[in-house]
Amino acid sequence: MKLFGKHISLPFTTPSISRRDQKHIWHPLTQHKLNPEILAIKSAKGALLKDESGKAYIDGIASWYTSMYGHCHPHIVKKVKAQLETLDQVVFSGFTHEPAVELSEKLMEILPKNQDKLFFNDNGSTATEIGIKMALQYHHNLGNNKNVMLALEDGFHGDTFGAMSVSGLSVYNGAFEDHFIEVRRLPKPNGLNNAEVLSQLKTILKENAIAGFIYEPLVQGAAAMQTYDIKGLNDVLKLCKANDVVCIADEVMTGFGKTGKHFASDYLSEKPDVMCLSKALSAGMVGMGITSCTKKIYKAFYADQISKGLFHGHTYTGNPLACAAAIAGIELLRSPKIQGSIKNIMSLNQMFADKMRKHILIREVRQIGVILALDLDIEMERYGNARDEMFNYFMSKGIFLRPLGRTIYILPPYVITEAQLAKIYAAIEDYLEELKQK
Ligand SMILES: *Cc1c(COP(=O)(O)O)cnc(C)c1O
Repeated sequence: MKLFGKHISLPFTTPSISRRDQKHIWHPLTQHKLNPEILAIKSAKGALLKDESGKAYIDGIASWYTSMYGHCHPHIVKKVKAQLETLDQVVFSGFTHEPAVELSEKLMEILPKNQDKLFFNDNGSTATEIGIKMALQYHHNLGNNKNVMLALEDGFHGDTFGAMSVSGLSVYNGAFEDHFIEVRRLPKPNGLNNAEVLSQLKTILKENAIAGFIYEPLVQGAAAMQTYDIKGLNDVLKLCKANDVVCIADEVMTGFGKTGKHFASDYLSEKPDVMCLSKALSAGMVGMGITSCTKKIYKAFYADQISKGLFHGHTYTGNPLACAAAIAGIELLRSPKIQGSIKNIMSLNQMFADKMRKHILIREVRQIGVILALDLDIEMERYGNARDEMFNYFMSKGIFLRPLGRTIYILPPYVITEAQLAKIYAAIEDYLEELKQK
């Protein structure tokens, strides 16, 4: 592995798991020819991951924003263990169970008030896929001839076909474009272009039969934590609703406290018709997704004809263990301790953000809730594969971050200690200092 031109060995002495991995495993979002060595993580606790040599890494992105309450949190482990001894799995079509019902009640207490029905599934991509299907079939069932989706530029909504179609990031979906559902795209309102965005939206609505609008409210995660304008989004939603466009908030990344409120939609007065939840929903323990909707959407599917129902169902839908993890996660989210931690991380991030805004190598700083993104002001070409270099640098310092292009972002678990957070900030500053010397 190369770091600043020097060869370093992977930080473990007995790479047995890593070596065995190479034989049969094909990893997600990985070009194996360029990245043949995959580090094996042996255990995790709180904000720390440990590799097989015992080296610890601070999980600066909460394992893709899932483990927001920390790894192996005792409250979540206890609830999931108890569930495991009672009911492990059962078909969710035709049966129900206590953990799913309890979760529905707990979610209703924190979701925007207009949400009424929950459709369970097992990951974020299918949560958005179902949202898209709800929008298209809603109009189909009502006999409206509307079958085009609207999405924001640079959005990311997942890896299945509907989700890929509405996503605007080409590294993920370039090879499949010929097979996409029909989509129109709108630029993000940024405060300065709001009037222009609204006028483009009016034209799109006039010229196309738009069925639904899917958006990551206020923060586009995979697009390197791009934040955008609250009022601008509110105005877009208002106009969409006036035209009977089903508004789908993809809160897979933003949900469960990361923006400083339970949901990013809580910042907006225009509430979504449909919401997509996953990632931190099941607290980083067991995969799960949920698509929620309003009474109005549900009513269009409630009919005497079977064919008007939503005929979509994943085998592990509503898995009781995932529900138990989600219930425990929501209990933690609402606890004074976690709410206090969120506020604390927000203010520490704010201070670091203010400092970084003055740094000569930082072009832009974005901060909302516990999310902090720093765009480096470097010519990527001059630095070769800067992104990999940054990743390796932080890993060598015992910090797990996954920079996106020229952006370093942190999205720490709420249980991160102040000392751990300070260590991340210091490593970022040290990295910038080394860059300056180059
Ligand atoms: C991660 C993500 C998805 C996809 O979720 P998966 O569980 O990875 O399929 C969809 N939308 C957003 C906004 C995401 O961040």
